[in-house]
Amino acid sequence: MNTFLMGEYDVIVVGAGHAGCEAALAPARMGFKTLMLSMTLESIAMMPCNPSIGGTGKGHLVREIDALGGEMGLNIDKAFIQCTMLNTSKGPAVHSLRAQADKQQYHYHMKKTMEAQENLDIKQAEVVELLVEDGKACGVVVKTGAKYLGKTVILATGTYLAGKIFIGESVVEGGPNGLAAANGLSESLEKHGIGLRRFKTGTPARVDGSTIDYEKTIPQYGDEKNVPFSFMNDPIKKDQVKCYLTYTNEKTHEVIKANIHRSALYGGKIVGIGPRYCPSIEDKVVRFADKERHQTFIEPEGLYTNEMYVQGMSTSLPEDVQIEFYRTIPGLENVKIVRPAYAIEYDCIDSTTLKLSLEHRLIENLFCAGQFNGSSGYEEAAAQGLIAGINAALKLQGREPLILDRSEAYIGVLIDDLVTKGTSEPYRIMTSRAEYRLLLRQDNADLRLTEKGREVGLVSDERYERFLEKKRMVEEELERLANTSVGPKDADEFLIKYGSTPLKQRCSLMDLMKRPQISYEALLEIDPNRPLDPSTGKPLVSGHIAEQVEVQIKYSGYIEKQLQQVERFKKLENRKLSPDLDYDAMDGLRIEAKQKLSKIKPLSVGQASRISGVSPADINVLLIHLERTKRSNADE
Ligand SMILES: Cc1cc2nc3c(=O)[nH]c(=O)nc-3n(C[C@H](O)[C@H](O)[C@H](O)COP(=O)(O)OP(=O)(O)OC[C@H]3O[C@@H](n4cnc5c(N)ncnc54)[C@H](O)[C@@H]3O)c2cc1C
Repeated sequence: MNTFLMGEYDVIVVGAGHAGCEAALAPARMGFKTLMLSMTLESIAMMPCNPSIGGTGKGHLVREIDALGGEMGLNIDKAFIQCTMLNTSKGPAVHSLRAQADKQQYHYHMKKTMEAQENLDIKQAEVVELLVEDGKACGVVVKTGAKYLGKTVILATGTYLAGKIFIGESVVEGGPNGLAAANGLSESLEKHGIGLRRFKTGTPARVDGSTIDYEKTIPQYGDEKNVPFSFMNDPIKKDQVKCYLTYTNEKTHEVIKANIHRSALYGGKIVGIGPRYCPSIEDKVVRFADKERHQTFIEPEGLYTNEMYVQGMSTSLPEDVQIEFYRTIPGLENVKIVRPAYAIEYDCIDSTTLKLSLEHRLIENLFCAGQFNGSSGYEEAAAQGLIAGINAALKLQGREPLILDRSEAYIGVLIDDLVTKGTSEPYRIMTSRAEYRLLLRQDNADLRLTEKGREVGLVSDERYERFLEKKRMVEEELERLANTSVGPKDADEFLIKYGSTPLKQRCSLMDLMKRPQISYEALLEIDPNRPLDPSTGKPLVSGHIAEQVEVQIKYSGYIEKQLQQVERFKKLENRKLSPDLDYDAMDGLRIEAKQKLSKIKPLSVGQASRISGVSPADINVLLIHLERTKRSNADE
């Protein structure tokens, strides 16, 4: 094919999904000439599956993306149509924001932001070739023959590479939502030695909302007082839509079992590995045969459409079976399917071929992000896109990459799991994956990460000032509560009213707040000096600042314990390992450990200890080796 040069860039991003958008915005905002290519501009921030952002673990990622200067949090605050704080009956570590989105609005707002971004060009084109020179990525060629040179390239191709759509016996080439698959790039990547594998995921049918009998479902409402995802926003007043809860039943399961042989999955047509934590309905019926019913939420796809998403009902059964079992579900007896459910299989890489910076180990200046890395979910994709974009820019500046460790962010847990441990199925984040989740709460993502976003040059002055103001107010209020004390005379009536033990001697307001019965809000009754807003007379410290003060005081003991655990964790994380270490020459290491360490080239003893197949005994060998090297260097 004749190629012709159409442009030269610092950063070229292949993909405009959730990963691609963040990966393109970051370097452009850091001042680099960036090009984002996508097979169609309609796929900019497209939500091919669930119409929601956030949820347990995922909400944490969105907050962290926002704190670092990314876009997803701001975008969902513009496009949400219902908002709920999940797990409020549990501890703050698992409180998670989840918002239903109007998918079209989500796309439009992100596209508008991309179009308005300085230093950023967006183009509709299919990349069919990656250009590599002397082991370095240096550009791409698209289907038309146009060539774009780039000092760095970021691949965020999602579920499109060699995409195949499965609906029962029907197997066709295709991307999500009826879009085209990307054919051509896979071959080029394999030519450069990049190994690919097949993963799969699935989505439920979209049904016509006007054919649902909502009387037979249980309406689900959003929270009256909504909490924004972005630290840049105050609570947003908006009318909220409802979602609807209903359940499958024995009849549903019968229809599925009777036709299981016609499912592309159980019929053996699909070779790609699917996500354990997002199983298809046929998977649920088979794996949890003892369960009499499975819940399903019916969720609006947007304000200006009748289309409804039937959560939990993804399947690769043929259409005639889909309509038959959907109509067994209360409320869906007369439902019409407007888009059939399907499974999609696509090419992705083995994420252990990446460094913690998301740069490819084999090809320098090539970064990878999103579903292409073996993860699943909008939020997981966006988090990786942001880190890949930041690190491509930092690489061009000759600076150290931004690597967040497991004690600093869910993004650190996500990337370390992918790169160090690897995944054999589409990986989704969960709070249970984070060892230090009491420190990695969604409410303090800015206190943990905004400074880092500022250091890399992504956090704007406006965001930084807002952050410093919050930090100052939290610190001052904590100090004030610690240094303000009350005596039995001032507090006993109040304490008895809240069912708490009267005082024997003076006590700081902070210590009072450590009592389970006493909230920061209630304490106002005996806290005459609480700073008030002169214009409203209301307490100055409120909303997410008050939440911060309360959590830090009430969980201070647990937080302290977790900080000690982090100190121990950091000890091994700070024992650095050179990527050039020759593990084959290291006596005492087992063969499997030598192979794994040579492949992953861990940056620290801590990372080495998380590689599957590297035993504690191997870690001891490493530590002894480091000690010996240190001593012999000291001798020289
Ligand atoms: C059917 C289906 C079901 C899903 N189910 C779930 C689920 O249950 N739970 C869950 O958490 N997530 C699910 N997801 C995943 C979720 O949609 C993705 O995780 C998320 O969209 C990934 O974002 P991404 O940016 O990595 O890729 P995508 O959003 O897929 O975007 C990829 C982008 O790359 C572009 N592109 C690809 N190849 C090329 C090329 N060669 N040249 C130019 N542009 C290219 C595309 O045009 C697109 O803009 C599902 C996705 C699909 C399709």
